Formats: sequence, C-alpha cells, structure tokens
Amino acid sequence: MLRSLAWTFASSGVFLLLPLLAHAQALSFSIGTASAAPGQKSTGYLAVPAGVDAAANIPVVVVNGEKRGPVLALVSGAHGTEYASIIAIEKLVNLLDPAQIAGTVILLPLVNIPSFEQKVPHVNPIDNKSMNRFYPGKADGTQTERASFLITKQVVDRCDYLIDYHGGDLDESLRPYTYWAPTGKETQDQISKKMVLAFGLDHIIIWRDRPTDLTATRYLDNTSTARGKPSIVVEAGYAGTVEPDDVVLLVDGTLSTMRALKMLPGNARPIENPVWLDRVVDVLADGPGIWYPLVKRGTYVQEGMKIGFVTDYFGKVILETRAPVSGVILHINAVPSLKKGDNIADIGAIAAHAP
Ligand SMILES: [Zn+2]
Repeated sequence: MLRSLAWTFASSGVFLLLPLLAHAQALSFSIGTASAAPGQKSTGYLAVPAGVDAAANIPVVVVNGEKRGPVLALVSGAHGTEYASIIAIEKLVNLLDPAQIAGTVILLPLVNIPSFEQKVPHVNPIDNKSMNRFYPGKADGTQTERASFLITKQVVDRCDYLIDYHGGDLDESLRPYTYWAPTGKETQDQISKKMVLAFGLDHIIIWRDRPTDLTATRYLDNTSTARGKPSIVVEAGYAGTVEPDDVVLLVDGTLSTMRALKMLPGNARPIENPVWLDRVVDVLADGPGIWYPLVKRGTYVQEGMKIGFVTDYFGKVILETRAPVSGVILHINAVPSLKKGDNIADIGAIAAHAP
C-alpha cells in the first residue's frame, strides 16, 4: 500500500512537469480497453468475440513509460494452473513503475481464465485445446484459436520483444529453466541470447528447428520470433505450488532483462556459464498405472538409470522406467496417476559446447 501511494505521488508530480520536458516525447498506448498516456499504467481487457463457442475477456495491463523506448510483452497463464508464473506477472503489474521505464510494457497475467478458475491443467476447458499450440490462431476458430489470433494481432504484432511465462503444471514437478531459440538471423539471435542470459536462470534449452511458416508457428514465442522479434520462454514453479523462490526467479529475471534492454536504469545481472541443453527427450507412458518416481526434479541421471516404476492397481510392478539419455530431469510426473501417452518426464541433454 505504501509503495502504491508513493507511485501515485511520483507519477502525478512528473505528469505536471511533462509539458516542460524535452524528452517527454513518448506516446499514448492503447490495447483492448486499456489505454495509458506516457507515465501511466492502465488495465483493461482484450475482448475475444463469440464464435462457435463463448466470448472471452483476457486481462491486459499497459505500463507506459515516461521515456520513449521499445515495447516489451510479458505473457503468462496460457496454462492457467502454472501458478508461480501467473503470480510473478501479478507482482510485476504492481511493481513496474512507469516513471522508471523507457518504453512500454504490455502484461497479460492470465490468458487462460477457464483453466485457472476450473483448475484444469494443460488446456482451455472450453475447447480442450492447449493455449500455446494454436498460434497464430484463427478468427473463425474455437475460443483458443480466436484468442490466439487476437494475441497475435494485438500483442505480437505490436511488440518489439516478448517473454512467455510457464512452469510445471499441476501434475509436473519442474526445475526452473529457460528456452533460447536461435533463428540464424545474427542480430536477432544476439538480442534474444542477451535476454535469456540476463533473465538469469542457470539451465537454458537451445530450441532449434522450429516452424518458420508464419501461418503455422504453433507456439506464442515462436510466433513472435518468426516475425523478427527476439523472444524467450521462461519456466519456474511446479505441481500447483507458489514457492517464493520460484516467483523471485521470474520477477528478478524480468527486471534484469528489462535492464539489458535499456528499459530500466541499472545493470542487468546475466548468468555466467549456464548449463546449456541442446536436446529435450520425452519419456512417455505406454499404458495406464500407478507411477512411483525414484528421482526428483533437477536430478542428473545417466542413460539407463531407473528413474521410476509403474504398478498395476494390485501393486504389481508392470514397468521400470529408465532414462533414455544422460542429462538433467527438467520435469517429472508429480502425481501417481498415469494413462497411456502421458509425459512421465523430460530429460535435458547437456550441449557439448556453449553456443
Ligand atoms: Zn505452460
């Protein structure tokens, strides 16, 4: 409360001086029903129109800096039960001070409200689709596709940089990591690499060979990357928890990245010598059963190591699960439930060289 009073005072004080200041050339920024003059913060909604299914409203916040600068988009909650990432953006909504910022920050704290409210992991329960697999979306598709279409037009097309926030879902025990997706375009890749290092998480997945067809980019960050905007994905939090350590990683990482992009004063704190991973191998369930893990999120495993086992409903072991590759357990199934095709674990293989 004290902090928000201080902001109101500071921003109204500067607002009075604005006409006198030569550098105060920033412009108003509107998105959906949110509209912020330079030095202001505004909240509103992106309205997804009704179509073959219901309409939806996606909350949006604009923090418009007093000084000119780039547009950075922070998007969270495509998976509405990856809570730590959603709470981190909620914190940033309050923390970001337009008086300090050069440029504009667009925040979408919770893209998938039906998932959040109904506690449904992985998908939008309205149409049973993941809200991070249908970009760039379709104006006449189901709700997820229409929302993705709107986010492409209103957020991706209007930003210069983008960060997409995720974490372990209700059934995933995940250790924090980020994704860096090089494109072969040197300048863009240098900036996205600077962003991912500035974000500061100590494990970074190099995500190569992603779709480049602009009509089939599937993922939000890739939709932005393919349109020439440096973008990264960040993940922290697991299994329904909101651990302060995870939230701090995401909040501090964002502020450090904004410093690297010269949108905030001060120096970024980039990670030095992170663990680079150049391959992620899925371990999938080949049938239903009860899952018993033998390793934890973040454990380093050797190829062939037993990482867990599956029993039938009478307690008889029906499968021993072994690591198909040496590397780090990025996430592992956090609950006993298992059905055919479920992702039991993701193992990140360590790159031979830093990129
Ligand atoms: Zn996610």
